[in-house]
Amino acid sequence: MSFSELGLMTELCQTVSAQGYSKPTPIQSKAIPIVLQGNDILASAQTGTGKTAGFTLPLLQRLSAKTPIQSKRPVRALVLTPTRELAAQIGESVTTYGQNLTLRSAVIFGGVKINPQIATLRRGIDILVATPGRLLDHVGQKTVDLSQVEILVLDEADRMLDMGFIHDIRKIMAMLPKKRQNLLFSATFSDEIKKLADGLLNSPTFIEVARRNTTAEAVEHTVYHVDKKRKRELLSFLIGSSNWQQVLVFTRTKHGANRLARQLEQDGISATAIHGNKSQGARTKALVDFKKGSVQVLVATDIAARGLDIDNLPHVVNFELPNVPEDYVHRIGRTGRAGNKGIAISLVCIDENKLLRDIEKLLKRKITAAKVDGFHPDPSIAAEPIKNGRNYGGTAAKNKRRNTTRAHTKRSQPNNNQQRRRAEC
Ligand code: AMP
Repeated sequence: MSFSELGLMTELCQTVSAQGYSKPTPIQSKAIPIVLQGNDILASAQTGTGKTAGFTLPLLQRLSAKTPIQSKRPVRALVLTPTRELAAQIGESVTTYGQNLTLRSAVIFGGVKINPQIATLRRGIDILVATPGRLLDHVGQKTVDLSQVEILVLDEADRMLDMGFIHDIRKIMAMLPKKRQNLLFSATFSDEIKKLADGLLNSPTFIEVARRNTTAEAVEHTVYHVDKKRKRELLSFLIGSSNWQQVLVFTRTKHGANRLARQLEQDGISATAIHGNKSQGARTKALVDFKKGSVQVLVATDIAARGLDIDNLPHVVNFELPNVPEDYVHRIGRTGRAGNKGIAISLVCIDENKLLRDIEKLLKRKITAAKVDGFHPDPSIAAEPIKNGRNYGGTAAKNKRRNTTRAHTKRSQPNNNQQRRRAEC
């Protein structure tokens, strides 16, 4: 089916074809007609599936059907996202897809000055893309009115809950008109998400699309078993010897991301870190530099990388495996997009074998192990529990605490020799 056969108006069809989209992605084919009809949806779709256009295009069409005459436009569509980056990217998509329409949009998130946002809101906008915390700041200052919202989109709802936004979301929902259209997107469906969906959605259509990025055709997964203290060396070797030009590397902690970026620089590989402790300006600059190729490696934590939209990213490296298997899927969702081949590499030390097994269980397949001469793990090194990364919150932190405790209780008393080896892994 073409975009126009899905019911999209000419202005929007022109924009998507100008973007080079020849046909709708599966999520777009499923979501667009339902959203155009005004129905609620509960969609299981990740970044990389084209979900942003899947909700933005029909949302624009519905709003443009009745542009308010008054100059002070009330917010009629509210898109909530967990991170600033995702908010900025959705804001860009709204601007791009809506360029032939007269609707106004704005993006508001924390970490930047609030006054320019107040001025924008005062001028009146139709579509507001926001992170929950900053939106509530505006509500508190009475600089935004949510009483006319017709469409609510919760994007990456599972992330929002993981990041502890549930109370903020509930507060925001209480300010919206009862009669409205709701679109909820989530990569995973925990009981918490189901509870949120039950209270929010009205006879929703459930839409599920294949996890495109986990398919064998799109992404080649490889694991290298290596001692912890030699991971950085192996990473530099892989990047250098294969001449990888654009690599997104994941670490578990912000501190780890900074340290690794510094070490790669020392190895002559241009690298920068992106994480929650960096200012918005620094994060944007890092992303721009990476996208345009002036920085070869972007080292990121899971939360900072959420929603990063980098077209055709060829390589994703898990310098450390995530504690929650679903995060592996999120991470590698940055590669193998739009029909391109992606490569996902994981550097796994002995401490992480259990995490690897959990990931393989989720993917329902074994990840191919590759070897590089000179980097074989030292068999005398024993596993030790993974230390908590302080940058985790919510479920991830709970799972991690649970795992760590379990590992601690299972472990027998080490002898001196074992203790020394553990320190080396
Ligand atoms: P998303 O899942 O919304 O983050 O989109 C992932 C990427 O797919 C973005 O870079 C979009 O520009 C691109 N995209 C969205 N829809 C299409 C389409 N129909 N055909 C080709 N690329 C698309």
